[in-house]
Amino acid sequence: MADIIIIGAGPAGIFAARELAGSDPSLEIVLVEQGNDIHARSRTGKEMLIGWGGAGAYSDGKLTISTDVGGQLSSLIPDEELLRLLEHVDELYTRYAPAGDLFSVESDDAESMTAQARLAGLVYVPTKVRHIGTENLLVMLEKLRHELDDKVRVVCNMQVREILHEGGKVKGVELGDGTVIGAPCVIAAPGRVGSAWMSSQAKKLGLETHPNPVDLGVRVELPAAVMEHLTSKAYETKYIHYSRTFDDKVRTFCMNPYGEVVIETLGDIVTVNGHSWANKRTENTNFALLVSANFTEPFDDPIGYGESVARLANMLGKGVIVQRLGDLLSGRRTTHGRLQKCTTRSTLRHATPGDLSYCLPYRILTDIVEMLAGLDRIAPGVNSAHTLLYGIEVKFYSNRIRLDRHLGSQIEGLYVIGDGAGITRGLIQASCSGIIAARSVLNAEH
Ligand SMILES: Cc1cc2nc3c(=O)[nH]c(=O)nc-3n(C[C@H](O)[C@H](O)[C@H](O)COP(=O)(O)OP(=O)(O)OC[C@H]3O[C@@H](n4cnc5c(N)ncnc54)[C@H](O)[C@@H]3O)c2cc1C
Repeated sequence: MADIIIIGAGPAGIFAARELAGSDPSLEIVLVEQGNDIHARSRTGKEMLIGWGGAGAYSDGKLTISTDVGGQLSSLIPDEELLRLLEHVDELYTRYAPAGDLFSVESDDAESMTAQARLAGLVYVPTKVRHIGTENLLVMLEKLRHELDDKVRVVCNMQVREILHEGGKVKGVELGDGTVIGAPCVIAAPGRVGSAWMSSQAKKLGLETHPNPVDLGVRVELPAAVMEHLTSKAYETKYIHYSRTFDDKVRTFCMNPYGEVVIETLGDIVTVNGHSWANKRTENTNFALLVSANFTEPFDDPIGYGESVARLANMLGKGVIVQRLGDLLSGRRTTHGRLQKCTTRSTLRHATPGDLSYCLPYRILTDIVEMLAGLDRIAPGVNSAHTLLYGIEVKFYSNRIRLDRHLGSQIEGLYVIGDGAGITRGLIQASCSGIIAARSVLNAEH
């Protein structure tokens, strides 16, 4: 028996555990994680996303302090309350890790950046961003692990197989080895990597779920100097474009000044991502251009659609494809020879020069080409023939589970939080969701 079981040691689960243990040391808390403990983690293959720290462990550590970015908690919690919590979490991150740099565009700059964006047919979204950096994030996760060592029973390398319930109330969990742990309260924080598992549990438990859109696109890499005048002020410059041809929303996402492009493995699919270190620089900046694909009935499997597009790229490129923008616009594939002539030197070694137009739907490719032209007007050089495009970048969001404002589900005592609940999409909101659920548990009578 335990008082509380937490499933998943990503930021959501860890911050829930920390809040619970810190508020009531008498609580018997068990945290179950399917991956390795922090000291045994590896950043290769699917290991990159699982283990103590979750998907966040090798992330860039960009904390976007905004109620509009990185999740949908603002749909359940008043903005002012959420902002206070975001600031509290930001302060906690900097308590455990070197503070990193805080980028906040001054209002004069924001005004001129907004005006420039408008002239280019873009919308500029000012945000406050703290960049912790991958290596510092690992320091933080180690400290948190150490702090919770004698307060929380952490069980690593063990999957939770089932969430148990009876008469509308949660009863505990069954582990992969058949062990049953009883508890009146379960906080499920399985992340994006656990979204299929969470969906199957939701079905068994009779929880109402709604599909989230899937975001598809490419990762763009170019010389850092091209974006320097923007990234030096805002670090992560967020722009939105409504495409002329399809009226689709295209957005920049996860900008990594002086960073590197990396491979992300999601099950049997290989996709791209990016990150940057706090103390190590490459000569390039990378960012994603993503288009949200929102489907209407009868189609209800956006994750399956995104997976199919990514699989197509994997089939053609035996992994991730890289293409020079000039080749894409000239209707030809990039070859090893053409890539060698590229003045932007790729930071990702394991990408196959190829042709993205064979795998990205026309609609999405058109949206991206239009957005690149718009960005070129505020950062000349973006639309250069030597800009590199990597595909596919895809962001799957778990089905959104119906939750109340305490992040409680329709089963009494079961809270579902973080990216796995489809309610968050980033470190800071995932961490906030852990604190919200923990406080709800502490205030509830189970
Ligand atoms: C390469 C990369 C870069 C990123 N960069 C940033 C960034 O700069 N800024 C930002 O805000 N966000 C970033 N993100 C996103 C961020 O990492 C996630 O939003 C965040 O980690 C979500 O936290 P979570 O706790 O909900 O889930 P996760 O971090 O995914 O953790 C879930 C954990 O649950 C475990 N689990 C799942 N199912 C089970 C089960 N049945 N039993 C036991 N354990 C289970 C998993 O193994 C995993 O460890 C990045 C993500 C990636 C992959």
